[in-house]
Amino acid sequence: MGRLHENARIWINGRLYDEEHATVSVLDHGLLYGDGVFEGIRVYGGRVFLLEEHIRRLYESAKAIRLQIPYSPDALTAAVRETVQINRLQDGYVRLVVTRGAGSLGLDIRKTSDPQVIIIAATITLYPAEYYEKGLQLVTASTVRNLSSALSPRIKSLNYLNNILAKIEATDAGCVEALMLNHKGEVAECTGDNIFVVRDSVIRTPPPEAGILEGITRNAVIRLAREAGHTVLETPLTRHDIYIADECFLTGTAAEVVPVIRLDGRTIGDGRPGPVTRQLLQRFHELTRRGGFE
Ligand code: PMP
Repeated sequence: MGRLHENARIWINGRLYDEEHATVSVLDHGLLYGDGVFEGIRVYGGRVFLLEEHIRRLYESAKAIRLQIPYSPDALTAAVRETVQINRLQDGYVRLVVTRGAGSLGLDIRKTSDPQVIIIAATITLYPAEYYEKGLQLVTASTVRNLSSALSPRIKSLNYLNNILAKIEATDAGCVEALMLNHKGEVAECTGDNIFVVRDSVIRTPPPEAGILEGITRNAVIRLAREAGHTVLETPLTRHDIYIADECFLTGTAAEVVPVIRLDGRTIGDGRPGPVTRQLLQRFHELTRRGGFE
């Protein structure tokens, strides 16, 4: 039985397959070692949102792990658009994956060949509307975010165990997201979202050096906030900064902009989504309708 929409077509290395036949080798190092990179991208009104930014980050991630993507960025951009069209996707989600390819049962990348470039255009299950109206609760995970000097969180790699372990903690605590700290105890990000606080009308978010994935939604929201006249600082944060914030929100491709109203049992602000969060969510929706920045 299919897991995607009916007649879904999946692009692998230039060919389209139905779901049942869209497969990769069990010797692929993407499977054996999580050796590969990926992107999650939204489609709004038939248009692929911020595709250039996602393509750029994919190639940067690939470069960092010395993975040569066997297509030019332009060719891959065209392939993503083509796959969205063929699947007649109006509003949905694209998963773009590049694996190291099949190799021997060892770590040596020289013994691998044929990186698999995969494009899955799918429908998306959104967070319930209630989260946007009432806000989310978070817990701090005991799982520390990967040490940048060991495996940089700036690489969007196929190895997501660090995030999965923290997500398990969120679920155990009855939350949908968990806050992850870096090895210094500073705020890094959530398991699949970046985090922002607002206090005394200043918006703050951790810098990339805090050990985070530099989210494309994060960067778009920083730009929207500045265009709206807000001061936005990329600065180290502690949990205390979140406890005493007036407002807190998360950003991500799937979540967009979602308010946070509690962390570790502390109510943030008055426990309701605040005005800055609501304004940015509205501006973000406008941006998705426009199809991106000019
Ligand atoms: N941090 C992590 C760890 C993520 O997986 C994601 C989602 N890709 C984000 C942040 C948000 O990034 P983006 O806005 O590019 O989706």
